[in-house]
Amino acid sequence: MGDLPLHERHLIPPGKRFRLRDVDPADTGDYKDKKGAKKQLEADRAELIRLQELLYAEGKHALLIVIQAMDTGGKDGLIRHVMRGVNPQGCIVSSFKVPTPEELAHDYLWRIHKVVPPRRMIGIFNRSHYEDVLVVRVHNLVPKEVWQQRYEQINQFEKHLTENGVTILKFFLHISKEEQKRRLQARLDDPTKHWKFSVGDLKERARWDEYMAAYEDAVNLTGTPWAPWYVVPADHKWYRNLVAARVLVETLHSFNMQYPPSAEDLSKVVIPD
Ligand code: AMP
Ligand code: MG
Repeated sequence: MGDLPLHERHLIPPGKRFRLRDVDPADTGDYKDKKGAKKQLEADRAELIRLQELLYAEGKHALLIVIQAMDTGGKDGLIRHVMRGVNPQGCIVSSFKVPTPEELAHDYLWRIHKVVPPRRMIGIFNRSHYEDVLVVRVHNLVPKEVWQQRYEQINQFEKHLTENGVTILKFFLHISKEEQKRRLQARLDDPTKHWKFSVGDLKERARWDEYMAAYEDAVNLTGTPWAPWYVVPADHKWYRNLVAARVLVETLHSFNMQYPPSAEDLSKVVIPD
């Protein structure tokens, strides 16, 4: 682990048994503090802005970023900080809430597939189809036989997407239970954050261990060569942002994109006065 470059350090190798307890949510790798990470993050954010424009111009790839975490895990913060400055016209952010009656009447991937980004676009999922093997499993919202089948269904769905031009990155932002307590308390102490606080979140917190088991299974059963998981230590917001930005930049670099040439000969074009 130690020698891997940052963008690979938190990648969970598919096929190898992954244990969540081996990940320290407070880990910051080779970085000591926010100040030390600032230069790298700023460089990556600038590069991300450049690469997103190229992604749009070239029009060959779609990028889907799946973000999962416990409440206060940093899903919103990651989107706000890492995507800041990226052209909003090239991004689609989708947040998945408790399914509506219409959504529930369909298969669970229906609402997901509808908002998978088309080529040129970056799609960001704030929660995702993984809720259907997380909250749904922890609260027995469907029988075990039903959610158990979903891991393989998800793998097939994600394979289908990758074979059709969508690159998928999955991030589990891993915070400690203690850090969640601090963040929930901070929300409680700040009236401008009360809209984000739901007493119901405490019920989820009470099931922490069951959620961790469900996350561990999700990573083990749906970490595939075509749609790998990154388990990002997220107690330190700056490190979480740094890791995500690095992975995004390296992934976009790997596309080897080019600005497309014009379909016409532009060499003799003169713009009239
Ligand atoms: P938030 O992200 O804080 O706005 O909360 C959204 C809520 O919707 C969370 O409590 C999720 O667990 C819940 N949720 C999302 N997807 C599902 C789903 N498929 N089934 C049940 N609850 C869900
Ligand atoms: Mg919430």
